[in-house]
Amino acid sequence: MTAAQNRICFEPELIQRYDSRGPRYTSYPPADHFSDWFTEKHYREIATKGNESPIPRALSLYLHIPFCNTLCFFCACTKIVTRNSATVEKYLEHLCREIQIQGALYDDDREVVQLHLGGGTPTFLNTTQIERVLRQIERSFSLSKEPDREFAIEIDPRTVTPQSLEELQQLGFNRISLGVQDFNPKVQEAIHRIQSPEETLQLLQHAREIGFHSTNVDLIYGLPFQSVETFNRTLDLLMTAPPDRLSVFNYAHLPWRFPAQRRIHEKDLPSSQEKLRILETCIHWLTEAGYSYIGMDHFARPQDSLTRAQLDGTLGRNFQGYSTHADCDLVGVGVSAISQVENCYSQNLKELAPYHRAVEKGRLAVDRGYRLSGDDQIRRRVIDHLICFGRADLKAILAPSQLAPKTYFVSELAALNIMATDGLLSVDEESNIQVTPAGRFLIRNICRVFDRYAAVADSESKYSRVI
Ligand code: SF4
Repeated sequence: MTAAQNRICFEPELIQRYDSRGPRYTSYPPADHFSDWFTEKHYREIATKGNESPIPRALSLYLHIPFCNTLCFFCACTKIVTRNSATVEKYLEHLCREIQIQGALYDDDREVVQLHLGGGTPTFLNTTQIERVLRQIERSFSLSKEPDREFAIEIDPRTVTPQSLEELQQLGFNRISLGVQDFNPKVQEAIHRIQSPEETLQLLQHAREIGFHSTNVDLIYGLPFQSVETFNRTLDLLMTAPPDRLSVFNYAHLPWRFPAQRRIHEKDLPSSQEKLRILETCIHWLTEAGYSYIGMDHFARPQDSLTRAQLDGTLGRNFQGYSTHADCDLVGVGVSAISQVENCYSQNLKELAPYHRAVEKGRLAVDRGYRLSGDDQIRRRVIDHLICFGRADLKAILAPSQLAPKTYFVSELAALNIMATDGLLSVDEESNIQVTPAGRFLIRNICRVFDRYAAVADSESKYSRVI
């Protein structure tokens, strides 16, 4: 993507007209299409098959730490709110065992170049517990020693001090992601997440001073009592210690799916017009402050590796969102974790007790998964290209299968024509799709054209709205 293509253009009328529900495409097909015919046996087969490749594929390791101290009412993550240290210890014991079992599947020449601790709240664990998990990873996998390896941890600023941040760095983490959501006290009270702006900003500042390679902050718009003015104040404060990356997520109010959200009153939510104004102001704000819009809620500074990966064409997408290591197999460890290995997805059991039982038997806790067909692989490439680079060369993507875009994507090209009339994209004679600056905010709608399962999906109840 060139700097000119990286431009964005906010067209509220167009966005409102196309506003609908749809997947975020952290996988294609989305995870609700995984099924339980896919078992541990299939996962073991594909994991070991990758070892036979003449060029060893590097690994990206994701560890899920599901525990949290308190419940944020907006949260849709797989998490367990607990104070019970025995529950935590038992999980860590089984997590380490799973790391051992997973590690035995992958040859030593398959280095881990990317490690991500997510949750829940990874920093619910103390430094000693985190170190114990890392030592197990070191014993079970080959960790890259290269300076460009990315070892990241999600941080709840309410659980970390400047000193424990330094300890995390000494353990090898070089990237942090902080959950902030909003600094406004009334919003914080309504979402049950009271977090001091001063302490959060101090942590961000300290991370920069002691040399973390990248800092990310998560914000959410569309929360109760938010307005353009309150959100601007949050951004104002944040820019006193500007992070390298920012994720600005749209709050998806789905109380029928996520019971905690029933404690958020619909009447307190901003109107869709106000949400749109918040988003518009936020985009204006961040681009003025020098951030590039990566796509799908993500912003990064020009020198950040995410921006560079987008410019040099190496950006990828996986369950953690955008990734600078698109060429890796992703190995997910822990309850509910998802792996993406070769052309398969595999998801672990979501509940602690069955997860423990599987691991105790020396088994992997695979619950369900998906093996991509040839057609799925083609559509996944198209969707990945659109989301990561705002363009897709259909001819080049279909070339290895000796298929022609105009016969393979008949209905899709017709649907794109309508979007082209609305100014969302252009398609040339060679079937090159180029998303326009105005279409970048509607990328989910554009990707959905290539989603073979979209028509049968019960989109209205499953997915969040685009805005
Ligand atoms: S937002 Fe984070 S800290 Fe809050 S409940 Fe969800 S996972 Fe836990």
